[in-house]
Amino acid sequence: MEFIQPRTWAEALAIQADMPAAVPLAGGTDLMVELNFAARRPPALLDLTRISELRQWNIEGNEVRLGAGVTYSQVLTGLGDTLPGLALAARTVGSPQIRNRGTVGGNLGTASPAGDAHPPLLAAGAQVEIASIRGTRSVPVDQFFVGAKRNVLEPGELIAAVRIPLPSGPEQFSKIGTRNAMVIAVAAFSLALHPDRQEVGTGIGSAGPTPRRARKAEKFLAAALAEAGLWESRGRLPETVTAEFGNLVAVAADPIDDVRGTAAYRLHSLSVMARRTLAWAWRDYQTAEPMNRGGD
Ligand SMILES: Cc1cc2nc3c(=O)[nH]c(=O)nc-3n(C[C@H](O)[C@H](O)[C@H](O)COP(=O)(O)OP(=O)(O)OC[C@H]3O[C@@H](n4cnc5c(N)ncnc54)[C@H](O)[C@@H]3O)c2cc1C
Repeated sequence: MEFIQPRTWAEALAIQADMPAAVPLAGGTDLMVELNFAARRPPALLDLTRISELRQWNIEGNEVRLGAGVTYSQVLTGLGDTLPGLALAARTVGSPQIRNRGTVGGNLGTASPAGDAHPPLLAAGAQVEIASIRGTRSVPVDQFFVGAKRNVLEPGELIAAVRIPLPSGPEQFSKIGTRNAMVIAVAAFSLALHPDRQEVGTGIGSAGPTPRRARKAEKFLAAALAEAGLWESRGRLPETVTAEFGNLVAVAADPIDDVRGTAAYRLHSLSVMARRTLAWAWRDYQTAEPMNRGGD
């Protein structure tokens, strides 16, 4: 197996165009497992870890541009206040060693329905920046996943970055596992309140062939808050609203029974997580100062 180590992004794109069968390697925390178990035997590995720009993030206008090679540890140390939803999810990934190596781009590359970065990226309305020698295209993260462990990447394309809008309101994440750490989610849920445009974002993990949004639940909650003037008053959230939100989140899922949990348990836990994250986010919204978005 050939091992190719480009030093620049342009070089990586040129090699990927020449050798579409070369498999990109970021932290290797998914890929090395597959290679070790002989689940995959690519002719070449394209090691992206020497490309420093992939490990950088910066704020551009109203969004964070997160290089595909940014690790969970970097998210935790540098972006905890800026992207709280993603940081909460990053904290639950694997162990410190996995968080030091594993990247958000690698999570998207694997496109597992259980990937922990996916729910907060969905709730935030992130875009995946995809590059090839032909140029760059942006794909909304809710259109990025096309099946279990399948994404929209075409031969010759690499993930360059994720563009995540700066939050204008609270973000929450919750994950159910069979133990507290080093665990793949049985189910996960992320919620973002967007008071600037009076919208709600959601992301469901591990409860369908792909990570997905609960669109009806988003619309219902945004409308319920608007009708009661709660976006402005930040008053008490009626229990009927919280309960219906939980029901609608569960309805949006399409889980299966597997070794980690039953479909019925996943549906139940999702409605519980939806109600809980809404209660936490609403408490944050009631107590927080209106948030400043960078670049405004
Ligand atoms: C012990 C252990 C615990 C784990 N716990 C969790 C957990 O709690 N939650 C969770 O979500 N995941 C977990 N994982 C899985 C893994 O750590 C994550 O999916 C991680 O985000 C993968 O990132 P990576 O940089 O290591 O990717 P890699 O393994 O390097 O790559 C993963 C895939 O993405 C592709 N890829 C990488 N970079 C790019 C790019 N720029 N463009 C295109 N394709 C690319 C690769 O070709 C490969 O197919 C765990 C793994 C292990 C081994």
